[in-house]
Amino acid sequence: MRGVVMHAPGDVRVEERGDPRILVPTDAIIRLSATCVCGSDLWPYRGIEAVDGPSPMGHEYVGIVEEVGGEVQHIAPGQFVVGSFWASDNTCAICQAGYQSSCIQRELMGPLGAQAEYLRVPLADGTLVATPDIPSDDLIPSLLAASDVLGTGWFGAEAAGAGPGKTVAVVGDGAVGLLAVLAAQQLGAERIIAMSRHTSRQKLAIEYGATDVVTERGDDGVARIKELTDGLGAHSVVEAVGTQESMMQAIRCTRPGGHVGYVGVLHEVELPGDELFFSHVHLHGGPAPVRHFLPELIDLIWNRQIDPGKVFDLTLPLEQAAEGYRAMDERRAIKALLHP
Ligand SMILES: [Zn+2]
Repeated sequence: MRGVVMHAPGDVRVEERGDPRILVPTDAIIRLSATCVCGSDLWPYRGIEAVDGPSPMGHEYVGIVEEVGGEVQHIAPGQFVVGSFWASDNTCAICQAGYQSSCIQRELMGPLGAQAEYLRVPLADGTLVATPDIPSDDLIPSLLAASDVLGTGWFGAEAAGAGPGKTVAVVGDGAVGLLAVLAAQQLGAERIIAMSRHTSRQKLAIEYGATDVVTERGDDGVARIKELTDGLGAHSVVEAVGTQESMMQAIRCTRPGGHVGYVGVLHEVELPGDELFFSHVHLHGGPAPVRHFLPELIDLIWNRQIDPGKVFDLTLPLEQAAEGYRAMDERRAIKALLHP
């Protein structure tokens, strides 16, 4: 089969990879209907994260089940399924508590390489959620968004305590930030401030429910959020970038007693203990337990109540994956969908 392999920073190729096979009886093999490039794929692409020899890429996937192992009971060939970037059993105590991304049996999907024609999915019964039927083509981008960016934005908004009566600020205008705006709106937030300096992204943020847009960042961004909130800061702040500047911006935008939901993968971030101590801010985040939210998100998409697929502003054949990476790296595209 064809699949994306990163050889070195900036060097992404589509090449022949071995067809995945069932390795253990809890596996499934799916034929991908669509996959995509993630903001987190840009960390190794930019050389910020090491590339350890040629590496299969991709961890966002939807598709049709081709084959299941002998112990798989709830997923069957022919079903259309959505999974997320951690395989999980969905039965252990941690999964039951809603933290499937810390499942005691968890397995990271990235190294299995979802930017490909086929994918092996471990712990298929726990990891995959089947849609009610085979979706029409126009629903596929939104279902694919549920695989990571929507679930991640949703977790960010929940971790930040977004809800009725709350002012929510979102740091980061990538796909996750934009979908955190959508999530905050769905969760009933009263006011949603998107922090973005890109016109096209501001537009989508407003479409998804943002009531205000702040273009300043860093200390100026914090000052602007304070101005908009009677000097107090927001109740709920979603951090969807993962840098020192964005994390501090998120903490400083939050009022005492408020919550930061941080879902941008943190890279070399150090938090000053004294500032944290006196901030009275709750911090909660990490790799989103997307599996926890999937049934609800699939339902909202299936009933056309939300349209998270709009974050895909570039669609390419899998063979042109390298252009998808380039476009996202140069911020010409929010998110690139790849058709195997
Ligand atoms: Zn588990």
